[in-house]
Amino acid sequence: MLIPFNKPYFIGTETRYIEEAVRSGKLSGDGIFTRRCEEWLQHQLGVPRVLLTTSGTDALELAALLLDLQPGDEVLLPSFTFSSTATAFVLRGAKLIFVDSSADGPAFDTAQLETLVTPRTRAIVPVHYAGLACDMDAVRAVAERHHLAVVEDAAQALGGGFRGRPLGTLGALGAFSFHETKNVTAGGEGGMLVINEPQLIARAEILREKGTNRAAFFRGEVAKYSWVDVGSSFLPAEINAAFLWAQLEELEIIQQRRQAIWARYFAELQPLAQLGVRLPFVPDYTTQNGHLFYLVCRSLAERTALIAELKQQGITAIFHYQPLHSSPYYAPRHDGRLLPWAEHYADCLVRLPLYTELEESQQQCIVRAVLRFYQIV
Ligand SMILES: *Cc1c(COP(=O)(O)O)cnc(C)c1O
Repeated sequence: MLIPFNKPYFIGTETRYIEEAVRSGKLSGDGIFTRRCEEWLQHQLGVPRVLLTTSGTDALELAALLLDLQPGDEVLLPSFTFSSTATAFVLRGAKLIFVDSSADGPAFDTAQLETLVTPRTRAIVPVHYAGLACDMDAVRAVAERHHLAVVEDAAQALGGGFRGRPLGTLGALGAFSFHETKNVTAGGEGGMLVINEPQLIARAEILREKGTNRAAFFRGEVAKYSWVDVGSSFLPAEINAAFLWAQLEELEIIQQRRQAIWARYFAELQPLAQLGVRLPFVPDYTTQNGHLFYLVCRSLAERTALIAELKQQGITAIFHYQPLHSSPYYAPRHDGRLLPWAEHYADCLVRLPLYTELEESQQQCIVRAVLRFYQIV
């Protein structure tokens, strides 16, 4: 039996909605499906504005533009994350101040934030790795004390929660991804920016629309539209929004299935904890969203052997990020601090297959293979 790491889930209505979009004769962005997705998501998340974007990366770039960062401004972010979390701010000339992961889990260690704040610090970018919440009380306390913006990288976090509140709604801005590897997809690539501060909405619409006030024009708020600010093109085509709408209609079922798979892994792999192999860190403030399930092996050699053993049995398990502070691009620019926990998760963390259609029998196979590797069964 071959078990891939990920498999995009299709409901079946995607193609029908795409056809509808094509027949409507309006294919560019901000059409019926885009609006439908945005309104539905605003309601679900309880936020004043959601803007669909072409990717999670673009949502982060739009966020960085909105903050008006100047060259030399400093941004606090984890080292153990995807490059997009960093590139969005590097494009604005910001200096990245990498925060180490914590001993408990890959999320950044909020206890370090305060010590890294300087007069140039402008923003904190928590990444909700695996859809599990960072300690947002701690993040917000530091942000409030030093008047810093909080931009959540919630790319993996749709449906996850912090003290019962949806992730991506706790900072000024929240960036989500609808890439095919995430819980729901906009047909391969897509994303959204959640705007929680109403005073940022009008400018966000302008920056997303090539620096024009076209959105206001279509609402009849201005007589003609003009170039009024910097900007770029961040809006997705209607066929992507149509695809996404089909997935959002089934969101609850998708999430339930994925959360059930996650919960089974968590329960059935508990025996590993006694050996010192770590399971996901789930503090009581976080609600898992079934995005990603990881284990932290005791060494790089052990992880390599585990991945090889699973591969032998047709199961694809994979490691995750290489730390950004020691990456070829940023190492020469990094301030030299050692970030041992980020290195640790880079060496020892492994992700098990988790996708909506993963069957219970397949999952049992994976669990047995892992437990056998550790000689527990
Ligand atoms: C997926 C992801 C992104 C980027 O999203 P794209 O839609 O692929 O551009 C950014 N940050 C994190 C943490 C991600 O997992």
